[in-house]
Amino acid sequence: MKTIGYAAQSENTDLVPYHFEHRELRPNDVAIEITYCGVCHSDLHTVNGDWGPQPYPLVPGHEIVGIVTSVGAEASRYKVGDRVAVGCMVDSCQECDHCHDSEEQYCRNGMTPTYGAPDRHTGEITQGGYSKHIVVREEFVLSVPDSLDMSRTAPILCAGITTYSPLRTWNVTEGSRVGVIGLGGLGHMAVKLAVAMGAEVTVISRTTNKEEQAKALGAKAILASTDEQAMQAAASSFDLIIDTVPTKHDVNLYTPLLDLDGSLVIVGQVGPLDELMSVPLVFGRRRVAGSLIGGIAETQELLDFCADHDIYPECEMIKMNEINDAFKQLASGDLAHRFVIDMSSLA
Ligand code: NDP
Ligand code: ZN
Repeated sequence: MKTIGYAAQSENTDLVPYHFEHRELRPNDVAIEITYCGVCHSDLHTVNGDWGPQPYPLVPGHEIVGIVTSVGAEASRYKVGDRVAVGCMVDSCQECDHCHDSEEQYCRNGMTPTYGAPDRHTGEITQGGYSKHIVVREEFVLSVPDSLDMSRTAPILCAGITTYSPLRTWNVTEGSRVGVIGLGGLGHMAVKLAVAMGAEVTVISRTTNKEEQAKALGAKAILASTDEQAMQAAASSFDLIIDTVPTKHDVNLYTPLLDLDGSLVIVGQVGPLDELMSVPLVFGRRRVAGSLIGGIAETQELLDFCADHDIYPECEMIKMNEINDAFKQLASGDLAHRFVIDMSSLA
């Protein structure tokens, strides 16, 4: 299937239009015409080579929504015209215990990311959502509830699930005291979702510049990590902190904020951190953990949760040819929302 997208051709160069082909449908495949795709900081890390060498040309994008255009001979979950979504993975072994537990992101044989990875059968490199079409096996396709506005749904597929999963794993509920470090794409969804679960949410930002946005999202307060006095006053006051900072940073700044048995869950930086001090962990039975996106069943649960609670990411719509400017803004860390590409802008 011929299609067009925007691809990185090498590290640290602009994305440019790119014609390529998707595989012909296998029996359990679904072909999707993409209508919107969110712009995740992971896309930027990947095209910049922050996570190692990439198989260029590379089409990023793993917050995908669209419409089914055809289905394989044995695909039974979707039909032509259905409103569907695809997130950060498109395949896994489907045989290991983690896959059976719907934790496909932790597949013992390695899940297949939506872009930049070899297909399990043919070895061809997967290409993502900054494009007109995608072909995905039906088990990795989500259903978008009728009541959700497609143009505001895409960021749920990564920013949403990456923060929803730890909120659920750590049993956030009415009255839980939740801190969110970094009010960007992931962070703003963490705030909305935790507030919807009844938590008391504090945004922990580099400055108080994003106070207005934090409050509008439902946070009760904003704490500047650069304000030593305020940080000391907030010691031992959180049950859970979700850390979305996208670069190497000092986690020791934040661990003292946890109360007894509290956990700081890293979802942002994938790679080295500053040296971890044991003292705040030992003298407070505090924990540092990590979390990777969420499973397929949990992602469907989240789409339904957002529909039931009328929760939407804050989306700024861009055209496909505005992506390089959008990447520059994303790199600045100043956004408290998500860029979403309107794929109808791609001829
Ligand atoms: P954004 O750029 O939208 O947001 C990151 C936020 O972190 C910024 O808004 C800023 O918030 C803060 N920040 C930025 N730079 C710094 C810095 N140098 N020091 C401290 N804080 C900083 O990124 P996303 O939310 O899209 O992604 C965040 C990270 O999560 C990325 O690294 C991404 O790859 C990763 N990720 C991980 C996933 C997983 O499964 N674990 C899935 C998806 C993404 P403020 O101004 O409030 O300080
Ligand atoms: Zn992402």
